[in-house]
Amino acid sequence: MLSPEESTELADILFPKVTESITDIEATFPPRIASFVTRIAPSPTGFLHIGALYMTLINVQLTHQNNGVFFLRIEDTDDKRETETGVSDILSWLARFGVHIDEGAIWENMTEIGNYGPYTQSKRSQYYHIFAKHLVQKWLAYPCFLNESETEEIRNSQSAIGKAPGIYGNYSPWRNESFENITARIASGIPYVLRLHAPGIVGARIHVVDEIRGKLEMDDNFLDIVLLKKNGIPTYHFAHIVDDHLMGTTHVIRAEEWLPSLPLHYQIFKSFGITPPKYAHTAQLMKIDGGNKRKLSKRKDPEANVTYFFEAGYPINAIKNYLCGLLDSGFEEWKLTHMDTPYSDYTFDFARMPKSWALFDLKKLDSVSNIYLSHLSNTDLFEEMSTWAKEYNPEFYAKMNVQKELAFKAISIQRGTDRDPKKFTKLSDVVNYLKPFLKDTFATLKQSRSEIVLPVEASLVKKIIADYASSYSDNQSGDEWLTWMREQAAKFQFARDSAEFKAWGCIGKFWDFAMIIRVAIAGSTQSPDLYEMMQVLGKEEVVKRLGEFGVELI
Ligand code: GLU
Repeated sequence: MLSPEESTELADILFPKVTESITDIEATFPPRIASFVTRIAPSPTGFLHIGALYMTLINVQLTHQNNGVFFLRIEDTDDKRETETGVSDILSWLARFGVHIDEGAIWENMTEIGNYGPYTQSKRSQYYHIFAKHLVQKWLAYPCFLNESETEEIRNSQSAIGKAPGIYGNYSPWRNESFENITARIASGIPYVLRLHAPGIVGARIHVVDEIRGKLEMDDNFLDIVLLKKNGIPTYHFAHIVDDHLMGTTHVIRAEEWLPSLPLHYQIFKSFGITPPKYAHTAQLMKIDGGNKRKLSKRKDPEANVTYFFEAGYPINAIKNYLCGLLDSGFEEWKLTHMDTPYSDYTFDFARMPKSWALFDLKKLDSVSNIYLSHLSNTDLFEEMSTWAKEYNPEFYAKMNVQKELAFKAISIQRGTDRDPKKFTKLSDVVNYLKPFLKDTFATLKQSRSEIVLPVEASLVKKIIADYASSYSDNQSGDEWLTWMREQAAKFQFARDSAEFKAWGCIGKFWDFAMIIRVAIAGSTQSPDLYEMMQVLGKEEVVKRLGEFGVELI
C-alpha cells in the first residue's frame, strides 16, 4: 500500500508529460444537448461481420428515432488485427447501407466531423494517459512488472489448488510492493503494464442493467485487468470507457460478447466516480448446423462476412429488412403492410428485441428478399440488377448493356400481374434469367439445344418449325396466339388440349408441341412464358432462331 504522497509521486514518474487533470480535459468538450447519443466502434480489420451490421442498424435507428446523435469511432489499438484499407472499408460499407453518421470519421475525404474528437483511438493517447494517471494517483491502478513466465507460474500455482486463475488480490505481487521497489524497477527500464486495482472479491455478485435483458445478477470482476499495455496503448476495456465518457455516449449498444465484461466496465467507471452510460447487448446471431445451434463463425461461415451478401446479389434493402426482423419481433408484420415505407419509419423498442440469441437463416433471408424484389417497380428492379451486375459480374453486364432495352422488357415479363411468378430472389438471378434472351448468352445455350431429346423425330421437328416460322406473327394478343398455337399443333397431329388428347389418338400433347418451339426459341426445356418471350425477342429474332434450329437438327 502506497501513501497518498507516494502514489502522487509514482503517477508523476509514470506520466511525466501529463499535466492536465480529468476535470481540465472534460471542460474542453461542450456539454451534450442530445439525450440519446450512441456510437459504433469498429476495429478496422477489413472484415464486416453481419452481426456488426445488425448492431449498427439498431444503433442508428434508436438514435434517430430519439432525435439523438450517432457517431463513429475507430478502435485501432490492436495493430495485429488491422488492415491498411480497414477504415475506408468500414466507411464504404456504411455508405452502402445508407447509414448516416452524425459525427466521427466521415467518408468524404475521410475527415472528421464533431466536437468530441479525435474519433480514432490511436490519436487519443493523451486522454488515456490523463485518466490512467488519475487512477495511479488514487492507487486504483498500479504498474505490474510480471513477465510471461512469472504470470504462467502464478496461474499454475492457482490451478494446482483450484483457485480462480489470473492476477488479483494476493496473487498480484506488484499490487502490494513498496514504493522503492516499484520506482527502482522503473528506473532500470523494466517493461510494465498498468493494472486496475480491482476491488472485487472472488465469488461476489453484483447487479447490472441491460436495456434489453433488464436487471441481471452477475459475477463481479475481481481481476486486476490490464489498462495500459507495455507500449502505453490502452486495452479495449479502458479505452472505450474514457472515450464514451468524453464523447458523451448515453447508450452503448454493442454485441452480446461484451456482456460478461459489464461488471468490469461498471467497476472502472466507478473508480473514476463517473456514472456509466446505459448498456444494451444485442443478441448473438446463431445458425443451425447439424441440428445444433452455434455462433456464426468468421472462419467456417462465408455468410458471416457482409461482402458475401453483396456478391451473392442480395439487395441492400432486403438485408436490412431481414436484420430488422431479427432485431424487433414486431418489424416483419409491420413491413408486410408498409412495403413502400423505409425501415427507418418503424419504431424499434428494446422490449421487443431478442434476449438470448437470434436465428440467422438464409432461407428466411431468401424469402424476405423475394418479397422485397417482387414489390419493386420494373424500373427500380432493372436498375438494382444492372448495378449489381456492373460490380459483381462485369462480363455479363457488358452483354446485358448492349441489349439494355430488350433486357428491361425481359425482366418485366408478367411482373405486377396476377401471374407474376415472383421469380426473383436475388439480383444475381438476372444472369440465368436473361440467358435465353441476350444474343451473346443465347449463343452458348444454342450450342446444346439440338441435343435435347424431343417427343418426335428430327425430320418432323424440322417441318414443324419451318411451318411455324413462315406463319408466325408477333401481332397477336396472348389469347389469339394460344388459339393459333393450338391449330398449329393440330396441323401436325398433336392434341389441341388435354381433353382432345384423351379422346383420340394423336402423336403428342399440346405441351409436347409447345416444347419443340420452346427448345428452338429458348435453347432449353424451361423458359419464361413463351408468348411473352417471343414478343420481347421480336419476329425477326424468333424466325432466325427457328431457322437456325432447323439447320442444326440432323
Ligand atoms: N471495438 C469493439 C468491437 O469491435 C467495440 C465494442 C463496443 O461497441 O464497445 O467489438
